[in-house]
Amino acid sequence: MRKTVLVTGGAGFLGSQLCARKLEQGHTVICLDNLQTGRMRNITPLMSHSRFRFVEHDVVRPYQIAGPVHQIFNLACPASPPKYQLDPIHTFKTSVMGAMNALELAREKSAKVFQASTSEIYGDPEISPQPECYRGSVNTFGPRACYDEGKRAAETLFYDYHHRYGVQISIARIFNTYGPFMDPQDGRVVSNFINQALRGEDITVYGSGAQTRSFCYADDLLDAIEALMELNDPSPAPVNLGNPGEFTVLELAEKVCRLTGTGSQVVFRDLPQDDPQQRKPDISTAAAKLGWTPKVLLEDGLQMTIRHFQTEMAEPDQISAA
Ligand code: NAD
Ligand code: UDP
Repeated sequence: MRKTVLVTGGAGFLGSQLCARKLEQGHTVICLDNLQTGRMRNITPLMSHSRFRFVEHDVVRPYQIAGPVHQIFNLACPASPPKYQLDPIHTFKTSVMGAMNALELAREKSAKVFQASTSEIYGDPEISPQPECYRGSVNTFGPRACYDEGKRAAETLFYDYHHRYGVQISIARIFNTYGPFMDPQDGRVVSNFINQALRGEDITVYGSGAQTRSFCYADDLLDAIEALMELNDPSPAPVNLGNPGEFTVLELAEKVCRLTGTGSQVVFRDLPQDDPQQRKPDISTAAAKLGWTPKVLLEDGLQMTIRHFQTEMAEPDQISAA
């Protein structure tokens, strides 16, 4: 069945690729975004498509969509720590009001709604890997709290709309995801390191670089998000999505240096407050429910991302127009 799909945050790194996939599958796509961290260049190739519509709007404010909506992917929220900390109150409102507005629309349209939650709801975890039943170790009163607590509250709203109003939901706790279409300037570790390496600038490792992350390639993640939306799950509890391969930040820096062949030096900077020391998903729920495991190895994914960043660097006109 051809559906009408709403993607909030559809001009961002993940949202724009989801919009493209849904168009390719024959669906009508409404992309709703305030362009806070998203880029027009991500959706420029989609703009001329007859089944694509871009609506510039801030999800903090309610919105109405004329006609049917069958699926809502709620992705609107800056994901990079320096970006979400720029206006923490707005970030919190984006998560909470954005979830509420998406859920209200889902209720009105009898649509299924997907929430892009995050591994950050586990905070600085005391156990590894993190299963969904782990309740986390989150500072409510720090610079990351606007994002972590906002996403936690959003999960609560999803639970309550499902149980109170029967809204069909799915929730993914997404672990660090990278790939082409990331904004090279967004401040996350993969984009920073590749951008720095390609420009011959210092590679900025925060702290000792011993903290770990698990990096999932975007194509793998999007496969799982789409499968989760299609899953008819009578008990739609949150599901971890990520690649369990765990690397230190220093190992990532070394890989990026080697794969780009850069002459850049690794330099060490202060570790930001409340930076989680370890992060590794337990993905047994996703494997059981979706039959999904990520396929792309970190080095292969980095190579594809590096090539994409190189292409963007060679197209300065498009970058300045974005
Ligand atoms: P991104 O910053 O590239 O995309 C977010 C998009 O949301 C941008 O286009 C931005 O302009 C838009 N947006 C932000 N606030 C908005 C608002 N108030 N109203 C309307 N639009 C708004 O980030 P991404 O990596 O594509 O992440 C997408 C979603 O996935 C986010 O909700 C993020 O929290 C979640 N997530 C991502 C990761 C990851 O590693 N990429 C990990 C965990 C969770
Ligand atoms: N980081 C780093 N150098 C950078 C950017 C990030 O060492 O230029 C570190 C950061 O301190 C964290 C990890 O890389 O330990 C992942 O950071 P990111 O901002 O990508 O996402 P997070 O997982 O912290 O939300």
